[in-house]
Amino acid sequence: MTESTSGDSTTQPDSALGFTALGLVPELVAAVAALGYEEPTDIQREAIPPLLEGRDVLGQAATGTGKTAAFALPLLQRIGESRNDDERIVRGMILVPTRELAMQVAEAVHRYGREYGIRVLPIYGGQAMQQQLRSLKRGIDVVVATPGRALDHIRRHTLRLADVKMLVLDEADEMLDMGFAEDLEAILAEMPASRQTALFSATMAPAIRAIASRHLTEPVRVTIEREQAAPGEAPRVREVAYVVQRRHKVAALARVLDMEAPTSTIVFCRTRTEVDELTETLGGRGYRAEALHGGLSQEQRDRVMRRFRDGASELLVATDVAARGLDIEHVSHVVNFDVPSSPDAYVHRVGRTGRAGREGVAITLAEAREHRLLRNIEHATKRKISIESVPTVFDLRARRIELTRASLEELLTGGELDAYRGVVESLADEYDVLDVAAAAVKMADQAADGRPSEDEEIPNETVPRRDGRPPRESRGGRDARETREPRARRGDRGDRGDRGDRGDRGERGEIVRLFVGLGRKAGVRPGDLVGAIANEAGVDSRDIGAIDIADRFSIVEVPGEAAEHIIRVLRGTTIRGKRVLARRDRDAE
Ligand code: AMP
Repeated sequence: MTESTSGDSTTQPDSALGFTALGLVPELVAAVAALGYEEPTDIQREAIPPLLEGRDVLGQAATGTGKTAAFALPLLQRIGESRNDDERIVRGMILVPTRELAMQVAEAVHRYGREYGIRVLPIYGGQAMQQQLRSLKRGIDVVVATPGRALDHIRRHTLRLADVKMLVLDEADEMLDMGFAEDLEAILAEMPASRQTALFSATMAPAIRAIASRHLTEPVRVTIEREQAAPGEAPRVREVAYVVQRRHKVAALARVLDMEAPTSTIVFCRTRTEVDELTETLGGRGYRAEALHGGLSQEQRDRVMRRFRDGASELLVATDVAARGLDIEHVSHVVNFDVPSSPDAYVHRVGRTGRAGREGVAITLAEAREHRLLRNIEHATKRKISIESVPTVFDLRARRIELTRASLEELLTGGELDAYRGVVESLADEYDVLDVAAAAVKMADQAADGRPSEDEEIPNETVPRRDGRPPRESRGGRDARETREPRARRGDRGDRGDRGDRGDRGERGEIVRLFVGLGRKAGVRPGDLVGAIANEAGVDSRDIGAIDIADRFSIVEVPGEAAEHIIRVLRGTTIRGKRVLARRDRDAE
């Protein structure tokens, strides 16, 4: 890529330079460039250099910050240095709390490491053991695993960790919340003490610090949570977020745009690939969108900007790098197609609207798993981002009619309708005048924007309720304990025992109380729990006992012999779009 140019303020840094300067080898720099990453995110800038030096890292960062690349790129490089293609042994190990994350992280490692010739395998519960065994036998460089299944393999001697050079504990706080502490200790004991370790967690709770002090050596602390918003007057900006699944994002964006009817909008994406794809998709949906990213020549950029300023295009789809230093007076709307990787980036983007006392709207499209990042932003900016529902088909129709009505009123007051009166008069001989008018309104309404109308609703994802407290305190067991109403302790105690002999604990006929870390505030109803347990774990719904739903957690009584199986299955599934934290209820023990 050649970016550069004579002293104008939109000069783009060479993307490769950013990653190269962190010390990454050309193969990995090429891999991220091919993915359209224009510059490292904050966490990458801070974590990659020490990890490449072989230092341990203790990182505090949420999903969506670019954390995966922050540990995956150095891991690939470190193990790549000592790779021997004839003998593939596990040199990199990444532990994650859930199946979903194992798949995601493995996919990311695969993408970053493809050119580098690294083989990666996700292993998680619920997946056929046979398939994992075959892959492990063929030789694997990096394993991405959930703790339970990793331990199963270690015990069967199908996973050998004696040569691990680098270990990553990702979302360590989640792993602890899910009751994996003992499993983690057991797995860590299988690895050489000389290995390098990176631990990432959204919080630095005492339990995390304890693990870090036991298993990390003089770690470099990296945190991206504490960024301060730029000082200054609070702009008059309405800040909203919509939480939808990734696959519904474009449709959701289109709907929101249709409702908002913005005059000028910048849509921010993370990568150039996303910018190009989104521009094309929006174009296909009838929006006049133009792409702006670091891959364009100066001349192309100038043209795009000219068209945007002239109003020839209504949407500018851009990466942060490309938009930096752009000379745009004011836009009515800023859209974050993804939650920005840091509060700083958010403030920067949103600062493009609400300028000079004018009103603006900042819209963020988030996936449920990114809610923490939204909270971090609220926390850092001390501003509220209200989570709203995606407009429904009904809302859209109502809005469109409203716009049509406004246009008709304009025509009626403007006069000059003589040429059309004849048509109405001739039709009025045969039809009711009101019907004639209604038909004309219908025609105008249908032709209003030429965009295809949709009749499918877009599901809103639910996120944990906000209650003004910092993100972490509003979830999980700790919180539940604080708000738990006193309950009679009954005699049905689950034996805790060693997690190692998991599986068939619990005697026949015994009832075990399970703690499920989702409750009323997450919209959970008894039917959700029965459904998940009956359908996913194959337990007869008649065998499920009392269900007690509190604000932030639920207690479900299940047959003792099925308890471990249910816990395992629940941990791999989602309820109301959210990952499930499940364990035996400690109060019952
Ligand atoms: P993560 O926090 O690891 O889940 O990453 C969130 C998203 O950001 C993923 O879709 C990544 O592909 C993307 N991403 C990571 N690093 C960068 C970067 N430097 N530039 C643009 N996008 C990135």
